[in-house]
Amino acid sequence: MLPLARMEKVIIVGSGCAGLTAAIYAARANLSPLVLEGGQPGGQLSTTTMVENFPGFPEGIDGPQLIMNMHKQAENFGARFSYAVATDLEFAGDHVRLKADDEWLETQALIIASGASARWLGLENEEKLIGHGLTSCATCDGAFYRNVPVCVVGGGDSAAEEALFLTRFASKVYLIHRRDQLRASKIMADRVLACEKIEPIWNSVVLKYIPDEKGEMTAVELRNVVTKEERILPVACVFVAIGHDPNTQAFAGKLETDPDGYLIVRHLAESKHPGIFIAGDVADRVYRQAVTAAGSGCAAAIEAEKYLSGL
Ligand code: NAP
Repeated sequence: MLPLARMEKVIIVGSGCAGLTAAIYAARANLSPLVLEGGQPGGQLSTTTMVENFPGFPEGIDGPQLIMNMHKQAENFGARFSYAVATDLEFAGDHVRLKADDEWLETQALIIASGASARWLGLENEEKLIGHGLTSCATCDGAFYRNVPVCVVGGGDSAAEEALFLTRFASKVYLIHRRDQLRASKIMADRVLACEKIEPIWNSVVLKYIPDEKGEMTAVELRNVVTKEERILPVACVFVAIGHDPNTQAFAGKLETDPDGYLIVRHLAESKHPGIFIAGDVADRVYRQAVTAAGSGCAAAIEAEKYLSGL
């Protein structure tokens, strides 16, 4: 546990692309930032496969490797890391008090880069089935499902990426999408549609998960939203890839959010509160790219540095 009441100069909440970029910049500015890594250290890139669109890697780079590189880079410049999760926030004059696990910390500047978390379908038995044939991470769990049929739910880049990755293991990958065309970028959509092992199931939603008596997934019940036809599709695992929600629970009622919970950025990376800066997917419902998250992490650290030096 970190010592209580030590005044930090900069605390960064989150250790994804935005938080780690902020950490690199703040550490290089000799601010010795403390990074609270949170519930999913490394953020969304830690569970992704190949990142092909982060500039500087013409052959692409593995998501977890990219994150490890950023972590090391921040550490080399003097960033400090804790696995603590931020759970609450209070204003204390010029400073901010932040609850990290059970301990209150105080900081002159706070950078919130807590990212976003995978969304679930909200069906019966969902929580119980997670880890028993229901997951949101193909990279983590795909290899457990060799030579069996699986399905991916969603039609965006995440769903496309998961489906393509799963073709390495599964006998068949059904892509269940509620509309008749993918939202994914053209290059990803083309790859999915050209892949023989992937069978799109259009205009369809999952009504029910069907587990066996041991609580392991065996099938899903589907409904075609156009024809209203219902059917059972046997699958050993369901990979849910329907987007993300911003991780702002710790700041509920304390910081400005839009109706969906995304933090509101006033100007560049600044919030309405002096000393609090915001970066990455926690405030971004538009771009949500590793490179835009990194860019906003950089801006947040530069703004925090200016704020601390009274500029
Ligand atoms: P997304 O683009 O928001 O797509 C979510 C998909 O899930 C949509 O197709 C949506 O359907 C569907 N969906 C949402 N709620 C649903 C529900 N309750 N039931 C059934 N389907 C539901 O999310 P994402 O794919 O996670 O991508 C997020 C961002 O990250 C995007 O900007 C994407 O480009 C980026 N990303 C990039 C890469 C890459 O470049 N390698 C990889 C992954 C993600 P509708 O289409 O009907 O809305």
